[in-house]
Amino acid sequence: MEKRTPFESVGPVPAPIGPYNVAILADIGTVKLLSALLALIALFGFATCGFAAAKVIPLPRPRPADIARPEPPAEASAEEPAPPSACRLRLTAELAVAPSLPALVGPGECVVDDVVRLEAVRLADRTQVAVTPPAVVRCSFAEAIVHWVREDVVPVVRSLGGALKSIDNYAAYDCRGRNRIIGARLSEHGKANALDIRSFKLASGTVVELTDPNVAKDFRERLRKTTCARFSTVLGPGSDGYHENHVHVDLAERAGGHRMCQWEVREPGDEAAQVPLPRPRPASAAP
Ligand SMILES: [Zn+2]
Repeated sequence: MEKRTPFESVGPVPAPIGPYNVAILADIGTVKLLSALLALIALFGFATCGFAAAKVIPLPRPRPADIARPEPPAEASAEEPAPPSACRLRLTAELAVAPSLPALVGPGECVVDDVVRLEAVRLADRTQVAVTPPAVVRCSFAEAIVHWVREDVVPVVRSLGGALKSIDNYAAYDCRGRNRIIGARLSEHGKANALDIRSFKLASGTVVELTDPNVAKDFRERLRKTTCARFSTVLGPGSDGYHENHVHVDLAERAGGHRMCQWEVREPGDEAAQVPLPRPRPASAAP
């Protein structure tokens, strides 16, 4: 059979069968052809319009080679340093000697980002208060220590007639349960969010023990007040028996912003008030 294009098919209708049939057949043929034609015109018209539209919208001018798109960034590798945190940007060399450390990757929950080694606090007069040994803590906690030392501790120590030389870091980052009890809830030390301090050393060489009842009571009272205002947890003598010879400070987050300030400022001879050490928890009772 001969192939026909729609245009060619507009030819003579098939041979007449009868006078009526001819008319009917002619009509059907015409309708079919018209439909095909309309469809074709619509298609052609659409294509033409599309083409015309494409012609109307100018193509963007080719970009000059010198402002060519930058190379896509290489795949982020583990070694690539993350951008500095807001804390890191605030904790300037003017405030502290606190180099950044890689993230701490301890077992379980003891994984901490944005860590620094707090070596010294810089004061406004450019002298330094050393942290001995340097404390490995998260940046936000280091920042709190820095402002506490600069704004609170130094003025309070001055009231003793001395200049603060260093603060004693008894414990900082340490992946362990609270009060070193295995199986207890993770201590804030495990989150690099706590510091235990035993004493301050003055420029004269004098060591001031924070929990020593023989140290000026007014000094210890003022220190306790400012410390509890700054940290969400402060544990000292009289808290739980584990903090008789040092003061623990941390920035634990609690429901409702609840704070814990448990530090009895004792007088000489107050030993009776001391809380006996609780019995160690049996390992089997650990959750
Ligand atoms: Zn502690």
